[in-house]
Amino acid sequence: MYAYVYGPVASRRLGRSLGIAPVTDNQCNFGCVYCQLGTITHVSHERKVYAPVDAILNEVNDAISHGVAFDGLSIVGDGEPLLHSELGTLVRKLKALTDKPIALITNGSLLYQDEVLEDIKDVDILLPSLDAYDKASYARINRPHGGLPFEQVLEGLKKAGERFKGHIWLEIMLVDGWNDHDEALDAFKELLGAFRYDRLYLNTPVRPPREARVKKPSTERVKTFSEVLGGIALDYLSDEVYTSADADDYDALVALIKRHPLHRQEIQSFLEARKHDNVEGIIERLEKDKAIRVVEHDHFTMYAPSA
Ligand code: SF4
Repeated sequence: MYAYVYGPVASRRLGRSLGIAPVTDNQCNFGCVYCQLGTITHVSHERKVYAPVDAILNEVNDAISHGVAFDGLSIVGDGEPLLHSELGTLVRKLKALTDKPIALITNGSLLYQDEVLEDIKDVDILLPSLDAYDKASYARINRPHGGLPFEQVLEGLKKAGERFKGHIWLEIMLVDGWNDHDEALDAFKELLGAFRYDRLYLNTPVRPPREARVKKPSTERVKTFSEVLGGIALDYLSDEVYTSADADDYDALVALIKRHPLHRQEIQSFLEARKHDNVEGIIERLEKDKAIRVVEHDHFTMYAPSA
């Protein structure tokens, strides 16, 4: 089982993408109310080596040498990837391993730092988030650890818009009652006019967050945001397809669930595609596994990390 590489996960945004997590164990400088990872280990905004770059590259190399098919690499995390202080080296060395595009999914908090922008300059697609529309909503929704002012996050998005040469696909996670009302819509409209991005995606918490009070907004609200802000609403139901370089079906599922809670139907499809002959047996095993919690979320039975 790999420690830093998972998938590939196929999505409409990124194709079949091999996931790379340079920051593991849910270590993040935010504590978003909608986070789908297990309990977040809060860390400061200070960058450091969270995982040895060579170990990450060995796993990517291993997946490539085993013929794992993917359309691109996604640097994402069981935490915030920009916190890794050797991200620049990782990106450069990944570029030398493959000519497939590299995407980076981030909370965007550290984009104001020149060294961070330098580290990610060879990334092809940057996917930062902006869920808050003012200081108070930033404190409520993203819950940054330590002092990182909202103005600094906005400054980072502006700097990235000016200096980053690749595509910028911004994402807003809309949460019912938290940032989906008219006041938020007006504020987002003004904020989004202040920096460059190429696409806007509107997401909703379709996978179970730790906090049960987090609900997805109504379809009407998402539609209104999409129309007013010119964003692409990610469909209510995901059509993502999951595959894995891991040969062991159970280990592969646990590695996926650790990063991305799965519907029962997604687990079934994953196992059927791998011609597993005891799908129910695997599901029973997951249900007994202390690392997994089973949650009823929006009429679906979902499997999420327990811690
Ligand atoms: S959603 Fe992302 S940025 Fe927010 S706490 Fe979870 S890992 Fe961190």
